[in-house]
Amino acid sequence: MTKDLYARHRSVLPDWLALYYDDPLEITHGEGRHVWDAEGRRYLDFFGGILTTMTAHALPEVTKAITEQAGRILHSSTLYLNRPMVALAERIAQLSGIPDARVFFTTSGTEANDTALLLATTYRRANTVLAMRNSYHGRSFGAVGITGNRSWSPTSLSPLQTLYVHGGVRTRGPYASFSDSEFIAACVADLKDLLGHTRPPAALIAEPIQGVGGFTSPPDGLYAAFREVLAERGILWIADEVQTGWGRTGEHFWGWQAHARSGPPDIVTFAKGIGNGSSIGGVIARAEIMNCIDSNSISTFGGTQITMAAGLANLAYLLDHDLQGNARRVGGLLMERLRAVTAQIPAVREVRGRGLMLGIELTRPGTDRADPEAASAVLEAARDGGLLIGKGGGHDTSALRIAPPLSLTVAEAEEGAQILEHALRRIQ
Ligand code: PMP
Repeated sequence: MTKDLYARHRSVLPDWLALYYDDPLEITHGEGRHVWDAEGRRYLDFFGGILTTMTAHALPEVTKAITEQAGRILHSSTLYLNRPMVALAERIAQLSGIPDARVFFTTSGTEANDTALLLATTYRRANTVLAMRNSYHGRSFGAVGITGNRSWSPTSLSPLQTLYVHGGVRTRGPYASFSDSEFIAACVADLKDLLGHTRPPAALIAEPIQGVGGFTSPPDGLYAAFREVLAERGILWIADEVQTGWGRTGEHFWGWQAHARSGPPDIVTFAKGIGNGSSIGGVIARAEIMNCIDSNSISTFGGTQITMAAGLANLAYLLDHDLQGNARRVGGLLMERLRAVTAQIPAVREVRGRGLMLGIELTRPGTDRADPEAASAVLEAARDGGLLIGKGGGHDTSALRIAPPLSLTVAEAEEGAQILEHALRRIQ
């Protein structure tokens, strides 16, 4: 049955729509932190459909909100007042820490980042943009133009002039051997040097922890240090919180807060987890920036009643159950367990991340060379053991990505760590 579906998939969908696993998996339903395949096999889900199932699968509160809303109206467009959209915007504006914040809803992270670029370039009357090496911000023509990751750059054509800045990856690149403070100083010096050679940029866009890039991040404080340099020149700071937002990183509600001496970014973008699978993306910016465009701009499907109802219920559950605190506690424990079980495995170069956003980078033992085959083999072995994880990384996709729903229990964390240990041992 699944094989037949795979054949149909191959004959009608694009070749570049990559599937995980030699025998691709059809997930038919889920509950809590588990999903089931078409053959009825159960898996512990440590990837949540790319960090999108944020609270839990089939969360009754979200299901109820969607069902009730579906019985009333799904969509009316932004031409009419929309109560759930206003309510979710109010909550997000307040949570953002951005003064006089305005929120614009889109249908994806890509569209959110495109909007942020539109705002920043219009506000600053500039089309030069700073992005980080190893970044990923989406698949549109605009977003691809700020993607610093070769495997996700299908074209070099771009409406923007993009300059890539050092610092998103702590343990690789020319500054890898430096101490944290030397690393930050070197990246800041590089940024200043770059700014001396270019037209004034509109903005710097950065993921606080790089997602597709393999859960890599700079030392805490780098973006605050960058911010000082940027603010002196009026350059905006855009934080792409598509993966890091809503408490996933445990210690912080937003990923940028790990850097935040100088307060919130000028623009924040979000998507993925807030809708728990319904298509919500968005941009938050202070009014002066959000209102700088002088023509109409709509996203027909942005902020539909059905997605906003899901988002409101999902966010309420997250806050009421302190899932950020859970991500900190259970994520901390999972990190400890993963460090312990991988300590004796030579293929493991690094265990990194924070909260429930953890990466394990694999290299060919005895070298610093990425080992994408090993990453794929561990993915397969983990699946055999009943665990779904992801992979990523700018260096040939050799990092395992672990990002379960934020309601993960201690027992599930222990179980997942054990399955991963067996999977890693199997590929040795
Ligand atoms: N920004 C980041 C940091 C992402 O990880 C992604 C998706 N992987 C996007 C933007 C694009 O989001 P979407 O796929 O919803 O367009």
